[in-house]
Amino acid sequence: MISEIGHYIQGARVSGESGRTQDVFNPATGAVTGRVALANGAEVDRAVASARAAFPAWAEMPPIRRARLMNRFLGLLNEHKDALARAITAEHGKVFTDARGEVERGIDIVEFACGIPQLLKGDFTDQVSTGIDNWTLRQPLGVVAGITPFNFPVMVPMWMFPVAIAAGNTFVLKPSPTDPTPSLLYAELMKEAGFPDGVFNVVQGDKAAVDALLVHPDVQAVSFVGSTPIANYIYETGARHGKRVQALGGAKNHMLVMPDADLEKAVDALVGAAYGSAGERCMAISVATLVGDVGDRIIPMLAERARDLKIKNGLELDAEMGPIVTGAARDRIAGYIEKGVAEGAELIVDGRGHSVPGHDAGFWLGGTLFDHVTPEMTIYREEIFGPVLACVRVKDFAEGVDLINAHEFGNGVSLFTRDGNAAREFGRKIQVGMVGINVPIPVPMAWHGFGGWKKSLFGDMHAYGEEGVRFYTKQKSIMQRWPESISKGAEFAIPVAR
Ligand code: NAD
Repeated sequence: MISEIGHYIQGARVSGESGRTQDVFNPATGAVTGRVALANGAEVDRAVASARAAFPAWAEMPPIRRARLMNRFLGLLNEHKDALARAITAEHGKVFTDARGEVERGIDIVEFACGIPQLLKGDFTDQVSTGIDNWTLRQPLGVVAGITPFNFPVMVPMWMFPVAIAAGNTFVLKPSPTDPTPSLLYAELMKEAGFPDGVFNVVQGDKAAVDALLVHPDVQAVSFVGSTPIANYIYETGARHGKRVQALGGAKNHMLVMPDADLEKAVDALVGAAYGSAGERCMAISVATLVGDVGDRIIPMLAERARDLKIKNGLELDAEMGPIVTGAARDRIAGYIEKGVAEGAELIVDGRGHSVPGHDAGFWLGGTLFDHVTPEMTIYREEIFGPVLACVRVKDFAEGVDLINAHEFGNGVSLFTRDGNAAREFGRKIQVGMVGINVPIPVPMAWHGFGGWKKSLFGDMHAYGEEGVRFYTKQKSIMQRWPESISKGAEFAIPVAR
């Protein structure tokens, strides 16, 4: 059966009316399981109008009451964790255990947003001048939009809407059309939790829906997560239309392995971080930077593990890696492998042609390992976003740091070492937004905020955490005195404290 996947506007599911749809696949079987509506401008207008109408009352509601609704949503998410994870696996393909982890990391942000009364507390100064007090408070922006990628259909939207909504904004989400179903499931849980209609809306769609949001006069801010060229476009177009924009882009994350590192642990970390979720994570490690003799020692260990990966339908609980999200993505990644060979990298393990018995039409690719990759090669420079690990050899720590700092992306990075001084230097000198020391995927917790540097983020504020609260609110300063304390008439020089 093929499901029709529509929008969620004004507290209800609505069918698409543009006449444009896109097929949704189960990547493990290759079967079309759904057809997602692609919104036109009129449908986007309706979602924004719904959010706009809900805004005044929602923004007026005391933060503690908004937090209580968020707390009910938190309870419902915990009850429905497995259903959400299954919906992710069905359309994305990642293994169920990983999908559950994704849901849990999304729930962390909802939990953080439950603390909104504390996060919105302003500053107060008594007696800035005689009889005058001054304070600052933060107020919501209005209707804000989120545009999200296929690779985390639950977690990445939850980097945005729980914080935005708890802060008093109303929200329009435009999920990836590749795996649209989870967005409707949590929209319904929001309704069940008691959020008023129009506070959270979903419009499914592609570029047409995104463009309608980017120029819409009633959308005050846009949060985007996706690939770098689109992030750049969103940032420029949104800013040109007067919006606050944060646009998180692509990545090429390195792990620098020092000769003193525990190589068994480094191999575990590399295999999980390179091949977990089939490498379709913005924090996946795609480059192993091997110092001195580490290359000769670690490549055979990595090769054995890459060959032994348990690649199967993600619903099987012992699966380590599932299929690639679409046939087109699988072919694009295979094209990169071909290019790596043509440009002279040494292909140690070739994932092309991988098959899974009983799932002949699935979008499969095995774990792939390259050695002797050099910085000018395409597979080093570009984001592949698949299960391909490129190993680069460097002579020492300094050369490794320079190499990483020269890359145009700066999302995540990791160092494996036992040397505290190297770790400290690395943390201070590396030009990357999120750093792990003996931690392969250092995704910050809910209260720290997520964001890369360089071409991995356009805008000033990271997602979630206190930066997220700042992004979704504007500061107001109020200075007050009462008539009894006004002692003289008009002042023509700038007032100073008296
Ligand atoms: P994508 O850029 O193709 O799509 C992201 C969103 O933009 C989707 O909602 C899509 O519908 C929309 N979009 C696509 N093309 C568009 C266009 N021409 N005009 C307007 N909107 C358009 O990304 P994807 O393939 O869904 O996701 C993978 C990418 O996301 C990778 O590059 C990955 O690194 C990145 N990502 C980054 C982070 C981060 O935090 N930095 C997190 C997750 C994913």
